[in-house]
Amino acid sequence: MKKNVAVIGYGGQGGWHANHALNSDVVALAGVYDILPARNAVAEEKGIHAYASFEEVLADKNVDIVVIATPNDVHKELVIRSLEAGKSVVCEKPVEMSVASLDEMIEAANRTGSFFTVHQNRRWDVDFLAIKEIIASEKIGAPIRIESRIHGSRGIPSDWRCQAAHGGGMILDWGVHLIDQMLQLITDPIERIYCVNTHITNQEVDDGFRLEITFTTGVTAYIEVGTFNFVALPRFYMQCKNGSAIIEDWRKPAHVVKCKYWHENDVLPVQTAAGITKTMAPRDEVTVDEYDWEKPQSDVHDFYRNVVRAIDGKEPMLITHKQVRRVMQVMEAAFESDRTKMPITVNI
Ligand code: NAD
Repeated sequence: MKKNVAVIGYGGQGGWHANHALNSDVVALAGVYDILPARNAVAEEKGIHAYASFEEVLADKNVDIVVIATPNDVHKELVIRSLEAGKSVVCEKPVEMSVASLDEMIEAANRTGSFFTVHQNRRWDVDFLAIKEIIASEKIGAPIRIESRIHGSRGIPSDWRCQAAHGGGMILDWGVHLIDQMLQLITDPIERIYCVNTHITNQEVDDGFRLEITFTTGVTAYIEVGTFNFVALPRFYMQCKNGSAIIEDWRKPAHVVKCKYWHENDVLPVQTAAGITKTMAPRDEVTVDEYDWEKPQSDVHDFYRNVVRAIDGKEPMLITHKQVRRVMQVMEAAFESDRTKMPITVNI
């Protein structure tokens, strides 16, 4: 039987969850609640039940799962109250704005025994999944460095995302996704974080950032979000022990170059304006294999399928408390690094 979902906050993302529930094979939509009456009216015009209050949602025995899709600064209170009412909870990302606040939520989940996870839906992005598959295939060996970038040119959306008090800024908005993905790709412990935030279009919050992560194994990761980039750099670039991979654009497949022979007999030098170079000359087809990686299949409905099966104890939850806590620790260290202009030594 389908589990009934109530969505709190019927804005952009609450609308996504509501539509998703209406088209899901595992959950059904019980209704929505927004603090703005106008948003509840929009729901009702669409034939969706709008609750009169948050308390009414919690009191509805028909509601199994409460989905929190409000601005970031009110996640904690709504999550904890839902857990205490015995509801299973899906919270939008970023789950919170500090490790201390997240710990209060995790404590509430442990105390009440209620299910609690976070909607890290970009685990179903096919660009990320392609990089994950390439690593798992071991065809070009283990990663040495992974660079993950997302570049836009429209600044931050002009809503609460511009305001620090509501948890605005790009580390909390896009960074949380890219950090979560990166910690799925490289699972080693982290020893150092260095981050520089940008403020090109917004002084109050970061409108982009450049984050360097050093793992205890010497593997490094670089994550960059920009909102003032009229030419975008590649989505993913990965150096591995036996080759490299690139995803130019999230609409394109990954391109892989595998090293067949490290040593070359005859390197044809290339001519540059200042002279010739063999060191930087491109490799020929004798020493490397080049191919596109077939785009992985992905179905974001698998998020809710996992939620329902995990609530029923049929499989482990995919997005765990430990994972979301590590991501929060990285974000917290990134903010500290930007504030102090120093690399931060961590044990994450
Ligand atoms: P939004 O501004 O479009 O919608 C938020 C809604 O919440 C508004 O309608 C507002 O009136 C309502 N609200 C505010 N306080 C409330 C309260 N106490 N109780 C009930 N309703 C309340 O914002 P959004 O873009 O929908 O973002 C909401 C959340 O979803 C954020 O945490 C954001 O980071 C997340 N989000 C996630 C993704 C994703 O891909 N996972 C995408 C977009 C947004």
